[in-house]
Amino acid sequence: MIMDAASDENGTQTLVCKRSDDTCQFLSEIVELRKEVNSLTELVRTDALTGLYNFRFFNETIALEMERTRRGTQPLSMILLDIDHFKKFNDTWGHETGNHALVHIANLIKVAVRKLDFPCRFGGEEFVILLPNSDLRQAANVAERLREMIATTPLHLTGQAPISITASLGVDQFSSTHSETSQDFVQRVDSWLYKSKDKGRNQVTYPDLTTQARTESVTQEEKNALFGAVGNED
Ligand code: GH3
Ligand code: MG
Ligand code: MG
Repeated sequence: MIMDAASDENGTQTLVCKRSDDTCQFLSEIVELRKEVNSLTELVRTDALTGLYNFRFFNETIALEMERTRRGTQPLSMILLDIDHFKKFNDTWGHETGNHALVHIANLIKVAVRKLDFPCRFGGEEFVILLPNSDLRQAANVAERLREMIATTPLHLTGQAPISITASLGVDQFSSTHSETSQDFVQRVDSWLYKSKDKGRNQVTYPDLTTQARTESVTQEEKNALFGAVGNED
């Protein structure tokens, strides 16, 4: 071996040539290849228009995060967001301005989420945010803040009057007691999103927090104990 890997204080690995002469002829090539791999990895998981994570990355991440949640105690929450009347927006302002609107919404999403959340473009004019270690109440707060930010921050394009945009959102959580697939979880959140559309759009909808808190506070062990206690009454 003529090369060693060393880590700096950030944990970033750098290649160190053991010899001080120029016999380490492949070093610069390997460093370049590594940079290329990093930027390709970034490209593969990023939506080209908005810079958010793409649908492919979302699918991989939801599977991993649901698995992590099943083994842990903290819930995983999800927010689905769909821009209101976006077909009409495109028809009125044109597809190019529609693309600017998508970037504008993505930028607001980036501001609204925490560092450990995963904001993704689900497809078209739909976005999804995964919030690990967050319960429904916390996710609902993020969603409400985001809805308001969108509704009160019009799109400003040079030479045009500001254009107002609204979005509808659905929120729900997944916890270790749930036994459902990622598609089931997405479907569940999507049904809340559609309630927001039904209620007139520019809304956030999610399950009743008080009922949710009561259900989620009962662990499987407690349920078994309760079941046993009821069974013993016979
Ligand atoms: P709703 O309030 O019920 O969600 O109505 P909507 O018009 O937003 O929903 P619909 O599904 O009818 O239309 C979605 C529109 O989003 C149609 C499509 O042209 C537009 N769209 C999807 N992807 C893009 C994109 O990348 N760029 C632009 N400009 N428009 C897009
Ligand atoms: Mg849609
Ligand atoms: Mg829409």
